[in-house]
Amino acid sequence: MSNADKLNPNSRPIHAGPDPDLVNGAVSVPIYQTSTFSFDSTDQGANRFAGSESGYIYTRLGNPTTRALEQAVSELEGGYDGLATATGMAAISTTFLSLLKTGDHIIGTDSVYGPTRILMESHLDKFGITSDWVATEDLDNIRKAIRPNTKMIYIETPANPTIKITDLEGAGRIAHETGALFVVDNTFSSPMLQNPFEFGADVIVHSMTKYLNGHTDVVAGIILAREADLYARLKKSLLILGGTMDPHQAWLVLRGLRTLAMRVRTAQENAERLATWLQAHPAIQWISYPGLQSHPGHELMKKQMKGPGSMISFGVKGDLETAKTMINSMKLATLAVSLGGIETLIEHPASMTHAGMPKNEREEAGITDDLIRLAVGCEDFDDLKDDLEQALAKANFEVGVG
Ligand SMILES: *Cc1c(COP(=O)(O)O)cnc(C)c1O
Repeated sequence: MSNADKLNPNSRPIHAGPDPDLVNGAVSVPIYQTSTFSFDSTDQGANRFAGSESGYIYTRLGNPTTRALEQAVSELEGGYDGLATATGMAAISTTFLSLLKTGDHIIGTDSVYGPTRILMESHLDKFGITSDWVATEDLDNIRKAIRPNTKMIYIETPANPTIKITDLEGAGRIAHETGALFVVDNTFSSPMLQNPFEFGADVIVHSMTKYLNGHTDVVAGIILAREADLYARLKKSLLILGGTMDPHQAWLVLRGLRTLAMRVRTAQENAERLATWLQAHPAIQWISYPGLQSHPGHELMKKQMKGPGSMISFGVKGDLETAKTMINSMKLATLAVSLGGIETLIEHPASMTHAGMPKNEREEAGITDDLIRLAVGCEDFDDLKDDLEQALAKANFEVGVG
């Protein structure tokens, strides 16, 4: 293992994880593109299965490239250890299936990554696991939803796509007083900006498709556990459920991870300037960005995050058509779901990422029809501002609002 935890934050992603190749001295971790690993003898095979001898067996159960990525991300988040998964949803579904059973109840953030809530409400419900999704930015809503069988509190902060902030320390305290596990989806911050283990998280999940990989060319996830026994339970489930990561995919994510600090920093600088500019723009109805003093979670952001990140949501003056015209008029920013890549993406959650939620649930969670989500990337600020400016002018002109 490297000593990345002793380095300053900007150096850590560059050196996190094990030293790459002890045989030939490769500086980048090699891709062990193999499904299975040979044994010297039947005894050795038996010992590896029994766990009395370390070594690899079969890639669903473990692979050196994937292992290097797990160790690297785990060094950045802290905690005990991590398990890389095929996608972010594989990390989330494995966490639920591993740690919950029939009769259990979970409380989650209402404005959460869409499929997380759909997984609970229309898949795990058939196994008798129930869930309540509440506005967790007010801790009283969590307290009110507690039942005797509440076994997990699941927080996403900043939340998708409302960019609301939940008090991690407070939510963690409620979970532990209740005897429930505290699980945090840390995708929107990445380990550069928020480390939920510091605030009592038992398990952290990430979609590494987003900031950790950062190049919009891989889907991937990871589960991180605070303690050895939780890690062992999660690992046992993952190896059987089969949502394991492929070694080539692991290598790509590890390559992307090396530049995490500079990507997060550049995108955040752009987002801070764009949010300030958008807030003052006459065509903007409202804006949600935790870096702005007008955001209700601004002080909390300063307490629990190292920066406000690069996700902005806003509404334009006018109606749904105005919003659509604005989005369709963007030239540099690409109309696509996802986030955390080097390029700026824009999308319309009510008709895209969150269209699977019933309209009343969506509106209650603050995911209104006019909400536009901007995932700011690493282009030059002036190019992004010019793009927004011309699209806002077009939308306003076409509906005759401004
Ligand atoms: C994208 C995303 C996920 C799901 O990840 P996939 O890699 O698409 O499966 C989960 N949570 C958040 C916050 C996300 O943005």
